[in-house]
Amino acid sequence: MTDHPLIRLNPGQERRLKSGYPWAFSNEIHMQPEFRQMAAGLPVRLEGDDGWRLGTFAFNPHSLIAARQLDRDPAAEIDAGWVRRRIAAAVALRARIMEGTFHRLVHAEADGLPGLVVDRYGDVAVVQANTAWADRMSPEIVAALLEELPLRAVVARNDSPVREHEGLSLEVALLHGTDATAVVEEGGVRFGVDLLSGQKTGWYFDQRGNRDRVAALANGARVLDVFSHVGAFGLRCAAAGALAVTLVDSSAPALEQALAAIAANGFSVVQTRRGDAFEVMAEAAHAGEQYDIVVCDPPAFAKSKKDQVAGLRAYGRMAGLAGRLVVPGGFLFVASCSHHAPLEAFAAVVADGLWRARRSGRILATTGAGPDHPVHPHLPESAYLKAQLLQLD
Ligand code: SAH
Repeated sequence: MTDHPLIRLNPGQERRLKSGYPWAFSNEIHMQPEFRQMAAGLPVRLEGDDGWRLGTFAFNPHSLIAARQLDRDPAAEIDAGWVRRRIAAAVALRARIMEGTFHRLVHAEADGLPGLVVDRYGDVAVVQANTAWADRMSPEIVAALLEELPLRAVVARNDSPVREHEGLSLEVALLHGTDATAVVEEGGVRFGVDLLSGQKTGWYFDQRGNRDRVAALANGARVLDVFSHVGAFGLRCAAAGALAVTLVDSSAPALEQALAAIAANGFSVVQTRRGDAFEVMAEAAHAGEQYDIVVCDPPAFAKSKKDQVAGLRAYGRMAGLAGRLVVPGGFLFVASCSHHAPLEAFAAVVADGLWRARRSGRILATTGAGPDHPVHPHLPESAYLKAQLLQLD
């Protein structure tokens, strides 16, 4: 047995964990005063009140999610070798399922590494340690990444506000190498990113498969990319032979980045339109504009449970406005990245919005993030991204 401290759950709290749920909440734990003094992120042995051995968990007395499963084995040593085996498994999985070297390499609990997110930009890795455990193990994590992959740089993007729930500070740092710029290559588009800069990178890997799906329809098409951000969907369509692409976003910096990428790729068919998406779509419909493909990939409209009703209503309104702009026989892609908009509810408001806009059609695909963003089977709510591709009559 290891010398990891033994922590027990309160009576009657073990049922979910016995059936595979990977977290114990602080109110479920029999908190002794000495546990509260423990440094955050250390491994512990967790047992039910009945003495049932639940395994080795990462413990953080300062977090609502107080214990996260590391290993079913209560005697597991959580050392550099353990970390390397988990990282190696995540790398091997991506090598099997993903083309190229631009993808999410580690997706936290689903890859058996609680709160650790790693994105791969070719020979640069970007690490987010979103739990005290992952933060504490960062040296071992970086060493394992360098052993498993030919990396020239490793960047820590520890500036996600979720770190505050774990009592961690926010910081960005270059942990290895000298240059944190990279060029994402996706479907014939090259997109330069500065992985250290204050902004997020601008290129979201979670929509990769959906961009492939939309771009496959884009040859010869007129495309409207609404909530375009830097234009990832629209640029992919341009590379796939679109006749004309319009990017719509309210953010000037996002459209500036888009213009730089348009120039760098030599695209002549892409233009940008800055404004509120709902207003731009209403004006376009009023002017009788029609597109072969309309993409709507908005920010989360339902950021919390209390915004759920208003958020869902906004998705429905968006689908109706966008639907009016699609030529008969054309395609509509709609997405939601809200944790608080479940797929069934999202699908229902999209259907309702299209009905109100007097558009009929058919759902060709219901999708989420790609397989490089796997989901822990007991945490299905972590599958935040949902999307539909429709053809309209
Ligand atoms: N489709 C993009 C990601 C979109 S993120 C991609 O594949 O990379 C959502 C975008 O919506 C952000 O760029 C934000 O600036 C923009 N946005 C938010 N509210 C908006 C509004 N009311 N009108 C137009 N754009 C908006």
